[in-house]
Amino acid sequence: MADLLDDLNLTSEEQMFREEVREFLAENMTDELRRASHFTMWALSEFEYGKRWQKILHQRGWGAVHWPKEYGGAGWTRMQKMIWHIECIQAETPSVMSMGRDLCAPCIMKFGTEEQKAFFLPRILSGEDWWAQGFSEPGVGSDLRALQMRAESDGDEFVLNGSKIWTSFADHANRIFCLVRSGSGPKKHDGISFLLVDMDSPGIEVHPITTIAGDPEFCQVFFNDVRVSKSRLLGKENEGWDVVRHLLAYEHGGGGGRSVSLFGRYNWLREVATLESDGAGGRLIDDVDFGRQLAEMRIELEAVSFASDELSKRARAGEPPSRVSELLAIRSRLVSQKMTELAMRAVGRYGIPLQQGARKVIPEVDPIGPEHVLKPMPFYLGQRAGTIAGGTDEIHHNNVARHVLGL
Ligand SMILES: Cc1cc2nc3c(=O)[nH]c(=O)nc-3n(C[C@H](O)[C@H](O)[C@H](O)COP(=O)(O)OP(=O)(O)OC[C@H]3O[C@@H](n4cnc5c(N)ncnc54)[C@H](O)[C@@H]3O)c2cc1C
Repeated sequence: MADLLDDLNLTSEEQMFREEVREFLAENMTDELRRASHFTMWALSEFEYGKRWQKILHQRGWGAVHWPKEYGGAGWTRMQKMIWHIECIQAETPSVMSMGRDLCAPCIMKFGTEEQKAFFLPRILSGEDWWAQGFSEPGVGSDLRALQMRAESDGDEFVLNGSKIWTSFADHANRIFCLVRSGSGPKKHDGISFLLVDMDSPGIEVHPITTIAGDPEFCQVFFNDVRVSKSRLLGKENEGWDVVRHLLAYEHGGGGGRSVSLFGRYNWLREVATLESDGAGGRLIDDVDFGRQLAEMRIELEAVSFASDELSKRARAGEPPSRVSELLAIRSRLVSQKMTELAMRAVGRYGIPLQQGARKVIPEVDPIGPEHVLKPMPFYLGQRAGTIAGGTDEIHHNNVARHVLGL
C-alpha cells in the first residue's frame, strides 16, 4: 500500500493531513475493530462493530466525509478523500452499512423536502438510522421497472402490500427506502414512487436468508397492509424513477475507491502466500508458478488502477460521469473474484470448512488450522455475489454496448 501513497506526490499540507488521519486511526482502531474488518466477507463487518466505528467517525466530524459540507461532510479536497480512503484500508477499518450514507442520502439531498433533509440526514450521519434498499422483488431484479409491490393511496397515506427480496442487512436496518407501484402510465417506469419507510411499521416482517458463504447477508421483507404517510414520499408521486436514476449513478460509480480496495486485498493475498508453505520446505510466495500468478494479478490490478485514475482525472476536469465506469466496475469485480480463487489455491484443504464461529470478533470456537486460513473460503463464496449485486455483469455489458459503443 505504501507505493500507492508514495506515487501521489503529496504536498506538505497533504502530508500533514495524512499524519492527522494516521494519528486518529492509531488512537481509535482497536484490535476488535480490525478483526471485524478483516473478516468482512462481502459488504458489511459484524454490525455492532460497524456501528461502533460510525459513532467514532461522527464524533470526529468524519461520519460522511464525501457529503457536502452544509449537510455535515468534511469539506475535504479530492486528494484528502483519497488519502483518507487509502489510510482506512491500510488500517483495516470496519465496513459500515452504507446504503443510507451512500445511496439514500444523496437522493434526500436532491429530492427531499426541507423537513426530510432535517430529519433524516443527521440520523444517518450519527449512526442512529441504518437504511436498507428495497428495490428487488421475487422475479424482479434486473428490470426494476417491472416491480409489483403495490402502494394504494388512502387519504394522507399509502397502504403497501407485497415483498422485497435480497434486501441486504434488512434485519439490522431501522428504515428502508422502497420502490412501489402507485400508479400506471404509457411507459413501464411510470407510476413508480420512492418511499422512505420505518422498519418497525406494523405489517412488516423480515426473514433473513443465509448465503452460500454461511452468513445472513440479506433478507426477504414482507409488507402486509403497511401504512406509510405521504410525507415519506421522496420526489413526486408516480415519478420515483427520477430518484432511482440519481441513486443508480451512485451505486454504479466509485471507480477510484474500488481500485484502492483491490490493492488492500492483493496485500492480504501476498500475506497468505507468505505464511503458506510450497509443500517442499519453502514459502509459497517464493514458488515460481504461484509467483507468476501473483504477478499476473498485479498487472490486472495496475490496469484497473490506471483506468480508475483516468476516470478520476476526467471527473476533476469537469467531464460528466461516464458509463465507462461500468466497464471498470465489471473488471474490478472479476479481479476481486480471481484473487479469492488464488487465495483458495494457497490454503488448499484448510480452506474447505466455513468456520463461521471461529471468524467472529469474539470467537465462539477455536479455528481449525492457523488464523489466516479462516478467510479464503467464505471470501471466495461471498465474492460470487460481486457479479450480481448492484446489477449483474450482463446488464452492465448491455449498458456499455448501448451507451458507450452505441450498438
Ligand atoms: C449479495 C447481494 C446483495 C443484494 N442486495 C440487494 C439490496 O440490498 N436491495 C435490493 O433491492 N436488491 C439487492 N440484491 C439484488 C440484486 O440487485 C439482484 O439480484 C440483481 O439486480 C439481479 O436481479 P435478479 O436476481 O432478479 O436476476 P434476474 O434479473 O432474474 O437475472 C437472471 C439472469 O438473467 C440475466 N439477465 C436478465 N436480464 C437480462 C438482459 N436484459 N440481458 C442479458 N441478461 C439478462 C442476468 O444477468 C442474470 O444472469 C442483492 C443481490 C445480491 C447477490
